[in-house]
Amino acid sequence: MPKQTPVAEGIFSWPSTEPHLIGSRCTNCGNHMFPTQSGCPKCTGESTETVALARRGTLWTWTVQGFPPKAPPYAGPTDAKSFQPFGVGYVELPGEVKVEARLTEADPAKLTIGMAMELVIIPLTTDADGNEVLTFAFRPVGANEGAAA
Ligand SMILES: [Zn+2]
Repeated sequence: MPKQTPVAEGIFSWPSTEPHLIGSRCTNCGNHMFPTQSGCPKCTGESTETVALARRGTLWTWTVQGFPPKAPPYAGPTDAKSFQPFGVGYVELPGEVKVEARLTEADPAKLTIGMAMELVIIPLTTDADGNEVLTFAFRPVGANEGAAA
């Protein structure tokens, strides 16, 4: 069996049946940050704690990435045959922070600002050792539950 490996350490909890993003919270003003930071840009405080961010949020804005982004930092397939357009957006985690993330949905007709989104961990690519590289994404809540309104 190929191993599954996160695209980067310390970004999301894995393995986990209910994965969440790992962020920071300022112990002075309560500001949330993602990814983790040791200092707070809001109050310039230098004391933060690592917290599990909310798994659900709302879509704040989005677009569809129709061509391979610059690599690095992009780690997915870039050749024309295997590249698939994908949605990207900002998901606002309630009371916490807006997170820039890949979206599982790339069909503009199925994406609406303000819709409920949920964190999922998805395969991004396969590395040179044959391991599956995982990244985080948000999917519309209900998309895979067969109960879409
Ligand atoms: Zn602060």
